Amino acid sequence: MNTFELDQNYIANTYARFPVEIVSGKGSIATDSDGKEYIDLGTGIAVNTFGYCDEEWTAAVTEQLGHFQHTSNLYYSAPSARLAHELCLRTGMKKVFFCNSGAEANECAIKAARKYGTEKKGKDAYGILTLCNSFHGRTITTLSATGQDSFHQLFTPMTPGFVHAPANDLGAVERIAKEMPLAAIMFEVVQGEGGVNPLTSEFVAGLVKLAKEKDILLIADEVQCGNGRTGELYGYMNFGMTPDIVTTAKGLGGGLPIGACMLGEKVESIFAPGDNGSTFGANPAVCAGALNIISRLDAAMLEGVRERSKLIFDTLQGKKGIVSVTGMGLMIGVETERPASDVIAACREKGVLVIKAKNKVRLLPALNIPMEQLKTALGILLAAAQE
Ligand SMILES: *Cc1c(COP(=O)(O)O)cnc(C)c1O
Repeated sequence: MNTFELDQNYIANTYARFPVEIVSGKGSIATDSDGKEYIDLGTGIAVNTFGYCDEEWTAAVTEQLGHFQHTSNLYYSAPSARLAHELCLRTGMKKVFFCNSGAEANECAIKAARKYGTEKKGKDAYGILTLCNSFHGRTITTLSATGQDSFHQLFTPMTPGFVHAPANDLGAVERIAKEMPLAAIMFEVVQGEGGVNPLTSEFVAGLVKLAKEKDILLIADEVQCGNGRTGELYGYMNFGMTPDIVTTAKGLGGGLPIGACMLGEKVESIFAPGDNGSTFGANPAVCAGALNIISRLDAAMLEGVRERSKLIFDTLQGKKGIVSVTGMGLMIGVETERPASDVIAACREKGVLVIKAKNKVRLLPALNIPMEQLKTALGILLAAAQE
């Protein structure tokens, strides 16, 4: 059996895959099993921050693999300690819990918020408000947090304690905060799976004010929009605010699984030994790679993200076949007149990999994609939208 047949026979049927088998990659170029090359504008859903097989990142990971690949969290190890230090220096957060995925990072944030709310405000103050169209993960609790009913239907009962309000509707958030004691409000500053929609700065400012008045924690889910993707190190930095908790994953590891829940001043001491844990969390090889990624997201790199972003907006916005372009930095949603799936298939045919978010074509290229490759890919995308 070939890979397609093996996969279809033996892998659980949870993914509608595109008919492409990736066998290798270098930078922003992926190669499939027929030897066809693609410019990859999806980066494994915002994971391969510097593309495939980035040399510095590979060296950092393999060097650590030569020392030891894993130990338990019963012992100290340098890579996670150094990564936590770097993350706190760059964000002002105080402590970091490491895990393996975005969903787990959000689970940790939810545990922190529940403990904080019930300790500070009483046993009923466990509610967490999230936004409609949000996406926070696939575990039962992070699905409960996810403000999209379609994800819930098959898996009820959901975890209690979550309420949803429409994004950018401050009045709705305020009404809910009046009706029930909230421990936290959790949000993506740019909703990814929900269609690449940024929150408005007025709405974010309103959340900050409300949170301050009512001692509600603000949790920024930066799983997708973090780690340089929006042109700032973390997406919230575009909004001139500081959350109490920041969760991230995807691009942090540059291609290996890691999640992080960063705890700000209010919650830095919320956890005691035994309150949370993860066998693989803080894996040294993964953390060595992540430290390499974060250290390279400096001012020049972020400026490069904003330049590439401008090129994308300038190339696509207002063009025939393009309805709208939304997003920030290198996290962009393109609504096309043709159905997004047709545009995605046409792009693939012509050697460009893009993905979908709701009814939009979603672009999440490597932060260092060469300008020429980006231009070529955008030309192909535009032509596909106009077919
Ligand atoms: C992908 C994503 C998650 C879930 O991350 P996993 O690593 O798949 O568990 C959570 N929140 C947001 C905003 C995401 O984009």
